[in-house]
Amino acid sequence: MKGEIITIGNELLSGLVTDTNSTFIAERLSSFGIEPLYITTVGDDESRIGQSLKAAVLRADVIVVTGGLGPTPDDITSKAIAKALEKRLVLFPEALDQIEIKLKKRGIKLGPGSERQALLPKGSTIIKNPVGTAPGYKISQDGKFIFVLPGVPKEMKVMIDQGVLPILGEESKQKIFVAKKVLKVFGLTESQVYERVKNISYNKKLMQVGFLPVFPENFITITARVEDSMESAEGLVRGVEEKMRGVLGERVFGEDDETLEMVVAGMLITKGLKLAVSESCSGGLLSKRLTDLPGSSTYFERGVVSYSNEAKSSLIGVDQTLIQTKGAVSADVAEAMAMGIKRGAKTDIGVSITGIAGPSGGTEEKPVGTVFIALAFNEDRSSNHKKEEIVISQGYAFPGDRESIRLISSEMALEWIRRYLLGGKIAEVGERWRATEAVDI
Ligand code: ATP
Ligand code: MG
Repeated sequence: MKGEIITIGNELLSGLVTDTNSTFIAERLSSFGIEPLYITTVGDDESRIGQSLKAAVLRADVIVVTGGLGPTPDDITSKAIAKALEKRLVLFPEALDQIEIKLKKRGIKLGPGSERQALLPKGSTIIKNPVGTAPGYKISQDGKFIFVLPGVPKEMKVMIDQGVLPILGEESKQKIFVAKKVLKVFGLTESQVYERVKNISYNKKLMQVGFLPVFPENFITITARVEDSMESAEGLVRGVEEKMRGVLGERVFGEDDETLEMVVAGMLITKGLKLAVSESCSGGLLSKRLTDLPGSSTYFERGVVSYSNEAKSSLIGVDQTLIQTKGAVSADVAEAMAMGIKRGAKTDIGVSITGIAGPSGGTEEKPVGTVFIALAFNEDRSSNHKKEEIVISQGYAFPGDRESIRLISSEMALEWIRRYLLGGKIAEVGERWRATEAVDI
């Protein structure tokens, strides 16, 4: 089956609001086995809404429309749809009842706008809105299904999952089972990822493999669409996933909705380790990412944004002379920051970032994008099992603007923690951006 999405609203065309609805709907339709062919955004204009819908009905089997179902006079979606499909608008008492119940809960009486919200194209089937007031509905035309939903993302999402997809499941004669896996990679370019996996064979009739760069990461999507069973779709995906993991090894840091910070947090919790962070150019982004998850106090002790030289020495204990002789952006200062924060916080691990995010502040020797990352930890290196403090650092030359440099710095630091916890080689992390001698562990 082919799908099509129409999002309606002047605010989407003027750039005031980003159309996130179509992204969500496209993902849900694809996962359901319906291939979206077009995404159209159209303003609150009766004739243009009508034209878009008529075009969609000719092309697709399932059309999802969002926006413009509200009670205000600029909400004209239903009127436009009824006209395009040559159907009358009729009052649905059931819809009006639902609106009344919702409004009553908020202490509001039915107004003329509410009645307009209950005027739907003749022959519609109501789709309940468990979150807001405006009901959605389904209309069939020439064997095609048109779903009309409110624009509010929170309402639309619930109605897709609880209303639209179950209806489609019942209506579709031929069931299609779709399994999908996203593998997330950091530290290789899109073409390096492709080079490694290009010889992996798969059934191109039933499966799709896609490469998607999401800076600074690369995603590989593996999808299987089959007619027999979910197990068979999942089996196909698993087979390709295993081969890919085989050639990509530790470069794959996570899958599906997992983020790098989630993976790192999980490993720290499992190992019962705590860390502390000292950041300069990343301005707290690493600490932010490490504390995005609930329960982060289990593994995160503190994060200090030691931006000035004074802060590096008074808060972290970095020697002022070291800063003056080596420079605030140097391997030595990064190492002193990682050790200083680890000792001060009495944690198992100390991590630091110091660099030049730009656009100014670069020199010939240390251009914008020069970033040093350091990691301090304890290790049994001596024969009497006395723990020794180890600190390692690496300089990088990161590309991009201020925002990208800060993002990739925090990403690299997280990757260092992950690799350290895996017991892997940190030296090979981010080879492509390496600016100074690597320090191995
Ligand atoms: P309401 O009853 O709230 O008026 P509605 O169906 O009329 O619902 P809109 O008025 O079009 O919906 O939009 C309501 C809210 O949802 C607005 O804040 C709008 O910015 C947001 N919104 C609408 N369409 C989209 C979209 N495609 N992507 C993201 N947000 C959207
Ligand atoms: Mg509205």
